[in-house]
Amino acid sequence: MTEQPSRRLLLVHAHPDDESINNGATMAAYAAGGARVTLVTCTLGELGEVIPPELRHLTGTALGEYRLRELTAAMRELGVADFRQLGGPGRYRDSGMMGLADNDDPACFWQADVDEAAAHLVEVILEVRPQVLITYDDHGGYGHPDHIQAHRVAMRAAELAAEAGWEIPKIYWNRVPRSVAEAAFARLADDLPDLPYSKAAVIDDVPGVVSDEQITAAIDGTAHAAAKAAAMRAHGTQIEVAEPYFALSNEQAQPLFATEYYQLVRGAAGEPRETDLFAGIEFAGVEEAS
Ligand SMILES: [Zn+2]
Repeated sequence: MTEQPSRRLLLVHAHPDDESINNGATMAAYAAGGARVTLVTCTLGELGEVIPPELRHLTGTALGEYRLRELTAAMRELGVADFRQLGGPGRYRDSGMMGLADNDDPACFWQADVDEAAAHLVEVILEVRPQVLITYDDHGGYGHPDHIQAHRVAMRAAELAAEAGWEIPKIYWNRVPRSVAEAAFARLADDLPDLPYSKAAVIDDVPGVVSDEQITAAIDGTAHAAAKAAAMRAHGTQIEVAEPYFALSNEQAQPLFATEYYQLVRGAAGEPRETDLFAGIEFAGVEEAS
């Protein structure tokens, strides 16, 4: 019988690249500390806009396959061995930005039946038995249909898994405290002339920004900032990195956060402002040295 690492973290994301942007430092830190880190990505991002001109011929399924290779390279940078696609690679297609005709594609994730999609995730939850789940808030962080659907599927799967025998003790949503975002954008304004980007994004472009009081956990990933940047760089069709900044296909610079923030939405916080997502969890087995 194979023993599970005592600390088990599950992340649910919409597209390849979301995990590295939102949680790269957290994933690297926990993987390095001996926790089992499991990533479930819901689509292959077949409708992402490609940045490098030489790769712009990649669209649809070919882009999805390419992005799966980018994800594989990113996970190598973060030290994460267990990453999966919800229902298998290509099961749910990218739905495109809100309001596009792509949202009506019957094969897209936005059109998926939430319970059916959640059933795939329940299988993973019952196998891995995570103590911590990380996903987006109910707005998907910034309103992309696949992010909203990933939220719905993750939260529903947690409910169904609890009924089936594994209640995930702690669920977190990805967050950025407003004060941190404001300070980072102020620095960005000063640094912009020296950066390879012509424009800066604005705070409203950053997913999950909320008032500081809503933040319940901060994971200091400073020691893993290089791994996070390398993982983001591995998603070269989607991200252009110039540490400590990056840009998506809109070419607007935004801060690359080495400390990642969370809001606990299920379970009890181990301390007022947690520095460990597993704080307060009781482990049945002997905990590995970290
Ligand atoms: Zn995404």
